[in-house]
Amino acid sequence: MEQQISRIVDQYIPNWYFPEIKITDIVEVLILAVLIYQVMMWIKNTKAWMLLKGMIVLAVFILLAAVFKMHTILFIARNSVTVMATIAIVVFQPELRRALEKLGEKQFLSSMVPFEANKERARFSEETRESMIDAAYAMGKVKTGALIVVEQAIRLTEYESTGIQMDCLVSSQVLINIFEHNTPLHDGAIIVRGDRIVSATCYLPLSDNMRISKSLGTRHRAALGMSEVSDALIIVVSEETGAVSVAQGGFLYRNINEKELREKLASIQERRVEVNKLTALWKGRRKNEKKTDS
Ligand code: ATP
Ligand code: MG
Repeated sequence: MEQQISRIVDQYIPNWYFPEIKITDIVEVLILAVLIYQVMMWIKNTKAWMLLKGMIVLAVFILLAAVFKMHTILFIARNSVTVMATIAIVVFQPELRRALEKLGEKQFLSSMVPFEANKERARFSEETRESMIDAAYAMGKVKTGALIVVEQAIRLTEYESTGIQMDCLVSSQVLINIFEHNTPLHDGAIIVRGDRIVSATCYLPLSDNMRISKSLGTRHRAALGMSEVSDALIIVVSEETGAVSVAQGGFLYRNINEKELREKLASIQERRVEVNKLTALWKGRRKNEKKTDS
């Protein structure tokens, strides 16, 4: 019995491969994990998800062609790989550019090392938030239509360029003035980045969501469409009813009150919620340490 076991062990063990694990290997695995995670998040947050789905369908198709030995299809597939890659780069140029831009931002590094990001930078100030709320309900009262896009992490450069460039601090007076009827800036949407209005009269992509109520027109469709292609929060004031609605993540929250709008805006006010939670935890711990020290 024992002999048998040792024979089996002798037979197999020499063939086993035990790689030596070095620190650099662990670092490499960590770097790869972070990179894969970032790429996955990027795919999830952009149109690249569509590209991936398309590629999977194509791959399955080619695999089937290979299984059934359809030589002509395989020949075409083999010869169009470079063309396809070029097409993908051209079509997804904005997304790729944004991904590279993100790489360049300092924020990217601090997002990998959460404790580095101790500065709790707010996306926009309290005054900006209150100005937007005041303006929205003031415009609602007199039935002035408005469309305000509050930018978050995803830069809306391509939509910004469809409008008239501005650089103006947000205040309720300015907002009300912009959306006043029969003025040059009132049509389309404004984009708010941080505490500033960066563009007005912007054209937003319309949503092709079939479930959206027929009573809603293009302004609401544009708000919803924008929320589908980006992480922005969009405030809509209806010209017909004066109701204030918010579009976010492909959902339209219709006819919300002041308190709900404040909650919505407050929830995106901090730049990185997860990091801030960690920071708060960390700070809390330090505070407790101090308490126990004294
Ligand atoms: P309301 O309740 O205010 O009437 P609605 O959803 O019924 O809103 P419309 O009446 O069609 O929408 O509103 C038209 C206005 O919406 C346009 O004058 C324009 O300012 C704005 N708008 C329409 N389409 C877009 C778009 N793609 N991007 C930005 N703004 C748009
Ligand atoms: Mg209408």
